[in-house]
Amino acid sequence: MKPRPVKSRSVADLDRQYVWHPFTQMRDWLQTEPTVIVSGRGAVVCDANGREYLDANSSIWTNLHGHAHPRINTAITRQLGRIAHSSALGLANEPAARLAERLVCAANEPLAPASSARPTGAEPRLAKVFYSDDGSTAMEVALKLAYAHAIRSGQSRRPRFLSLSGAYHGDTVGAVALGHIDLFHKAYSGLLFPTDQVMAPYCYRCPHNRARPERADARDYRKCRNECVDAVEQKFAVQTKRGNPYSALVVEPLVQGAAGIIPQPAGWLRRVAEIARGHGAQLIADEVMTGFGRTGEAAEENAGRPGLFASHQEGVQPDYLALAKGLTGGYLPMAATLTTETVFNSFLGDYAEFKTFFHGHSFTGNQVGAAAALASLDLLAGAPSVRARRALQRNLRRELAGLWALPQVGDIRQIGLVAGVELVKDWRTRAPFDLSERAGIRVCAAMARRGVLTRPIGNVVVVLPPYCTTAAQVRRIVGALAEAIAEVLPSPAGPVQ
Ligand SMILES: *Cc1c(COP(=O)(O)O)cnc(C)c1O
Repeated sequence: MKPRPVKSRSVADLDRQYVWHPFTQMRDWLQTEPTVIVSGRGAVVCDANGREYLDANSSIWTNLHGHAHPRINTAITRQLGRIAHSSALGLANEPAARLAERLVCAANEPLAPASSARPTGAEPRLAKVFYSDDGSTAMEVALKLAYAHAIRSGQSRRPRFLSLSGAYHGDTVGAVALGHIDLFHKAYSGLLFPTDQVMAPYCYRCPHNRARPERADARDYRKCRNECVDAVEQKFAVQTKRGNPYSALVVEPLVQGAAGIIPQPAGWLRRVAEIARGHGAQLIADEVMTGFGRTGEAAEENAGRPGLFASHQEGVQPDYLALAKGLTGGYLPMAATLTTETVFNSFLGDYAEFKTFFHGHSFTGNQVGAAAALASLDLLAGAPSVRARRALQRNLRRELAGLWALPQVGDIRQIGLVAGVELVKDWRTRAPFDLSERAGIRVCAAMARRGVLTRPIGNVVVVLPPYCTTAAQVRRIVGALAEAIAEVLPSPAGPVQ
């Protein structure tokens, strides 16, 4: 049966009358004609007027294999024929149980043999899966487990958490408390419990980086003494000296997404994980964006199968692994928090001890989501996906290199299959556009006019395409970005190099 054609006019009107969009200044929204998406296939989405767009940010970082993938669609419809949902409170179900096993296996998979970053052997084993619905709730679960475990294990009576400057871990109140983006969090400061922040690596704008700007990823030409690692060491030392050592360090491994696609220099994660462990702290890895192959491979010549999790690229195994966005291939809202047997045991006891983890959501362990996730994991394990991911990583690298010719491009940061392009007034000075100039927003609007959809983070344009994106499509995405920059941003005076 063919779906009835949607009249874009009426949908746009209904939307403007009734829908409140996330992270959106609705006054601006109400003055523009919304793009109404009606279908998608592979890396392309289609609007109600029949216009096609490349989905260059994978529908806000969720989609892995492309839209309407037959394997995932089949898994979902098959599951729907049986049952859509039954509660995980007091009941088990097959897809959720199978998925938990698969996630535990993937999360403990040894690293590819060619990789230099190997787990030390002292790394914890992730053994249990707690389901929830999205990235924020996955982090909320990690936070509550880590808090209770710190108290129950005698590590601390007043557990305190350390996270990175610029961190974003979601929008529920606990997750907000762990985050440090003033723009999002300031208005709610009265609701939040105190957490500490420590400087995050941001080589391009690091006060310790003495290198003059070059036409390369700032990580590659930085001149510093790894002060960002020392800062973590110092924070831990001071807090331990105060007699209340940190209970957990919270990080997005390899790259901070919502902070502006800000990658960590090689070795940073490994070293701060060792520091945290040395002070008896737990490690919470927020892999909501980085998980499921997004960060590619540590070395392109790596002959083994690329691992699915960013932490493993540095040989780090966290005590809590938070997963969401790509878990179902980006088809349905589902999340998981993986943790160790040790943490699990903290919640065991006689019923009357009330050590139960009193937490859960109506849709915990949803069958349709789990069926989609199982299909997505099958796809990820297959040779075609591995080949496609390697090709996408290479194609992105090749096409993005062309952007160095533009003086308004300050930094190009690629981490596997995600890249951030930082726009500046002039690359020679790194002078940023004032946020009120909306440089990123205007560039992305100009890209949309060219049939490429993505969203900026401040002055950073995010390129994070589905894994099925072809070489020609990558060329179109980056070409649209180059044209948009030339159209929208003034060219600095004077010769460039
Ligand atoms: C998106 C994101 C979250 C929040 O996930 P939601 O599904 O939007 O609640 C948390 N952490 C990171 C790193 C994210 O990218």
